[in-house]
Amino acid sequence: MGETTRRIRAAGGQAQAVPLDGPLRLTALCDGYLDLNLTRFPDVVRGVGDDLAIADGQDLNDMTISVNAFLIEGGGRLALVDAGDSNRRGDFLGHLPRALKAAGYAPGDVTDLLITHLHGDHAAGLLSKGEKLYPNARLHVAQREIAFWQCSESLDEIQAIQLPFAEAALRVYADCLVPMRPGQQVLPGVLVRPLVGHTPGQVGFQLGQRNPVLISADVLHLPALQVKHPEWGFLFDADRPTAHSMRRELLAEASLTGLRLAGSHMPFPGVISVSAGQGGLGFSAAQAA
Ligand SMILES: [Zn+2]
Repeated sequence: MGETTRRIRAAGGQAQAVPLDGPLRLTALCDGYLDLNLTRFPDVVRGVGDDLAIADGQDLNDMTISVNAFLIEGGGRLALVDAGDSNRRGDFLGHLPRALKAAGYAPGDVTDLLITHLHGDHAAGLLSKGEKLYPNARLHVAQREIAFWQCSESLDEIQAIQLPFAEAALRVYADCLVPMRPGQQVLPGVLVRPLVGHTPGQVGFQLGQRNPVLISADVLHLPALQVKHPEWGFLFDADRPTAHSMRRELLAEASLTGLRLAGSHMPFPGVISVSAGQGGLGFSAAQAA
């Protein structure tokens, strides 16, 4: 097992502040981890991919990704970006409530749930035993994401695996569901950005002033592979060519502007900076607070 894998597996339940200027505070929270085999990256070229994984402290035959969420505090609101996977698959996941507690809060304190997309590893943790885990929060989901899961007959078999989690979240939180649109400020200082491809309605959330962070959801699953090879898609990308374009565009923007990317599955705390060098794009973990 590589060093990065070891570190990712130990991070469930942790909370770590992400440096941010301006009035909002951002904290990364870790729900746990997922082990992936190579079937999840159908486009990876062996050899090239093995070298990149090993250089990053991973093993292409036994990869591990974090499942992260993020907490935004400010202006009297406490917003949780994504809700993790719950412990439905085992105790390697479902540590988000403990991470929230480590940050000083209980589920009842959360005022807003900002959902990047409705796959199970982002939405299953909204519920506990079929009920709201966050009883006082409004659920913000992009209009296009809601529509995608409501047209369930048009889902392919891969996306259909995720349908029960999307449906349950939309049903249980129906009384406090707030549709959102890209371009909107969902909360003061939090801009909704379209990140289409992984799902048609996936969005990210950008915050911070001079040195902003974009919570970029599932644009990248494994930066060790996909920063250099954005064409290596993920099995659960609903539209792999569009997801590839989105990934390429966002990496280019991050390398040109210094925009930091905070990912749902990048090694906890999940924040990277992207830079252009002689060998193409590279990345480094953004500094801890
Ligand atoms: Zn995900």
